[in-house]
Amino acid sequence: MNTKGRFGKFGGQYVPEIVMPALNELEENYAKYKDDPDFQNEFRTYLREYAGRPTNLYYAKELTEHYGKARIFLKREDLLHTGAHKINNALGQALLAKRMGKKRIVAETGAGQHGVASATVAALFGMECHVFMGAVDVERQKLNVFRMKLLGAKVIPVSSGTGTLKDATSEAIRYWATNITDTHYIIGSAVGPHPYPTIVRDFQKVISEEIREQSKEKIGKLPDYVVACVGGGSNAIGTFYDFRNDKDIVKIGVEAGGRGEAPGENAKTLSGTGEPGILHGAYSYLLQDPDGQVVEAYSISAGLDYPGVGPEHSFFRDTGIAKYVSVTDQQALDAFQRLSEIEGIIPAMESSHALAYLETLMPETTKDQSVVVCLSGRGDKDVAMVAKALGQNIE
Ligand SMILES: *Cc1c(COP(=O)(O)O)cnc(C)c1O
Repeated sequence: MNTKGRFGKFGGQYVPEIVMPALNELEENYAKYKDDPDFQNEFRTYLREYAGRPTNLYYAKELTEHYGKARIFLKREDLLHTGAHKINNALGQALLAKRMGKKRIVAETGAGQHGVASATVAALFGMECHVFMGAVDVERQKLNVFRMKLLGAKVIPVSSGTGTLKDATSEAIRYWATNITDTHYIIGSAVGPHPYPTIVRDFQKVISEEIREQSKEKIGKLPDYVVACVGGGSNAIGTFYDFRNDKDIVKIGVEAGGRGEAPGENAKTLSGTGEPGILHGAYSYLLQDPDGQVVEAYSISAGLDYPGVGPEHSFFRDTGIAKYVSVTDQQALDAFQRLSEIEGIIPAMESSHALAYLETLMPETTKDQSVVVCLSGRGDKDVAMVAKALGQNIE
């Protein structure tokens, strides 16, 4: 087996031959800039000045008192520019693309959040931006489509297949492979063929590096638990990575349990019935039927309904470095309202999944312990959807 870009047996490069030159070029350039102080300095400067890092490690005193157990801290990625952790990766990749002399960005998007982050950095660096989006999603996510247009991006509806994220991804890759000289493809999570899972993780690991540093002052020691939601797994790998060798720190990834156990009713890739297979260029756990066909994932949260997961999480799961659990749509909805009412913070529906797991976790903890939850994004984008789910008409 080719061991390049592997996390244990997971990862790799399962792509059509036509994509290999683009992947090789990206791999060579990333190897060159990864440890280049000039590149790293530029990245850190944009994270600080443009995105708003470091994000606060906030002691949620009210929520802590609500449970009466371990102290709870929130890593406030929701306070970043554009409202979520996705900007960390988008900035890093756009800077890399600029160094590689690329003039155009392509991206795929489902709910539109990654499309908006990509359009944002393309605007910032004066690059052209093409966002491929399933035709069904273009209809469903009108607000984000307009946002991308305001930022100067071109949104290309994809009607093949089911007209959703996976079809948009295939189109984006095809476009990239045929326009490689002037185009960089920004993937939105820690997924895809090597070197993407490594690149995205490296641009997101700043989350755990900051937690480690901030813990000294805010907690007085390292946390006992770190918790993050898992869609493709980028905010979670960012939250876990710097603690991967700290065996005493329990790392918990929370997947979308959706509305039931039946196939197509959840996105429990690692915590449910997923089996290893190949999706979007990598070998990793994924939701599939007995014939190996990908099963569509479902979640109330558009950022979590992905049938696959980043290969490094598959490795973390099988080696026990992290554990993976799930909460249902309803539990996440409850947590969304709970944090809003108790702390005055409206969390993204994705992040609400991580918060919902506190209901299970907190009773097992003690007062001298501490729990860090990654608040991956803010919930403004979800307010209309939540109103509908609660049976309230705000139109
Ligand atoms: C996209 C998104 C996620 C899920 O993506 P990961 O790659 O798993 O982090 C989680 N939270 C928010 C706020 C998002 O926008």
